[in-house]
Amino acid sequence: MEARLANETDIAGFREEARSLLAHQVPPEEVHWQTAQNADLFADAPSTEGKAAGRHVPRAASAIVPASFLRLCEVVVLHSDPQRFALLYRLLWRLVHEPGLRNDPIDADMLAAQQLAQAVRRDLHKMKAFLRFRPVEDAEHPGSPLHVAWFEPAHHILEAAAPWFARRFAQMRWAILTPARSVRWDGEQLHYGPGADHCDAPTADAGEQLWLTYYKAIFNPARLKLAMMQKEMPRKYWANLPEAQLIAPLAAEAHERSGRMVEQPATTPERRIPLAEKEHIMLKIDEVESLEELKHATMQCRECPLGEYATQSVVGEGARHAKLMFVGEQPGNQEDLQGHPFIGPAGQLLDKALAELGIARDEVFVSNAVKHFKYELRGKRRIHKSPTQREAAACLHWLEDEIELVKPRALVALGSTAARSLMGYAVPVMSERGKWLEREDGRKVLITLHPSALLRMPPADKEEAFAAFVADLAKARKVMKA
Ligand code: SF4
Repeated sequence: MEARLANETDIAGFREEARSLLAHQVPPEEVHWQTAQNADLFADAPSTEGKAAGRHVPRAASAIVPASFLRLCEVVVLHSDPQRFALLYRLLWRLVHEPGLRNDPIDADMLAAQQLAQAVRRDLHKMKAFLRFRPVEDAEHPGSPLHVAWFEPAHHILEAAAPWFARRFAQMRWAILTPARSVRWDGEQLHYGPGADHCDAPTADAGEQLWLTYYKAIFNPARLKLAMMQKEMPRKYWANLPEAQLIAPLAAEAHERSGRMVEQPATTPERRIPLAEKEHIMLKIDEVESLEELKHATMQCRECPLGEYATQSVVGEGARHAKLMFVGEQPGNQEDLQGHPFIGPAGQLLDKALAELGIARDEVFVSNAVKHFKYELRGKRRIHKSPTQREAAACLHWLEDEIELVKPRALVALGSTAARSLMGYAVPVMSERGKWLEREDGRKVLITLHPSALLRMPPADKEEAFAAFVADLAKARKVMKA
């Protein structure tokens, strides 16, 4: 029996077909899964089986399976393995007929599906890390180039990755070309189109030389780990990475340079970069490898106006591989002056709540969605001003880099700016507080108020509000014990 899907990632079609097949008691070995792309072009009329035949499935025939299996399906369908739909339907069939399967952690089919999901996630990560945009002139928008990138994903991940790029590069117009599909962001909407050829992608631009100069400048020979670098950045991606041409010569001279570094006295880095270089750098510094580099990069960042007026950027601090990461809105006055997050009144309130739960501040990691302090001057006083959505969107990639570096098991969103940045959509904090939501990367996010909201409450309400805040955070305590 043939089950036809509209395209390679047709998860809705798969669910519909699978439900119908299950209702008709069709065993997995009798089903042949076809997608529009792999269907036989010379086949006769469309199959009379499946949707074409209009199976009338009673609603009661729906199978109940764990929500985690549905999430697994959503990732596995993005894999390029032609047998993935057969595997998922076999698992679904077995979940319905073998109740013990859901408690079997070493089942071969389940492990195979998890491996496919892992490969898809790895491909998504590589795309985010190794895709490089190059500006091309756009006759319809003089003075505002279109940024175009070429990438060859191993799996069908373009549509899954595109919203992430839209959030990260929200303020520029860009297009990503791949052999199978393409996507364009016009500043408001994503538009998908057919695949492209490598020669449609732009070649090196003038700004690329600037990027290579910058890459050389930030290359730290003392931290070179060649084997790790090649593992994280496989050679197949090098063709799209301008900096790849520098790896061999920089690695060759690393030993000598690190010796010279040890002998040199410490230098103070320049805080600001010349305006002429800023535009190129802001588009291309998209991967940092340590929290120190993150600090350095955000100090120079001018992707939104906030960097121009703050004293310094403030990045997260705490346990390097904390299980739990707290994300607030932005640094406040004290944080801006001293360069550390959550050290003002709101930070002290957070410390007090953590202490009530028996969690030490240095066991967790605390950071902010926006890395520079936004304020307005009233006389000589700097009064906190909330960042706009645009500013938070511009800063999002630094937060995502931080999450990638720390790799927390779960996150706590303190307030609406943090919740929006972490989830990618507006979260109604008052109705969602105390609940766990799940991010695209699978990490859980606990929603609660920002401690500064408690400070602004009338004195009579403060005690109760603090108790509710502690009760919210208590739900995250088990992450620390896991
Ligand atoms: S707030 Fe974020 S995006 Fe804006 S300049 Fe600072 S680091 Fe860059």
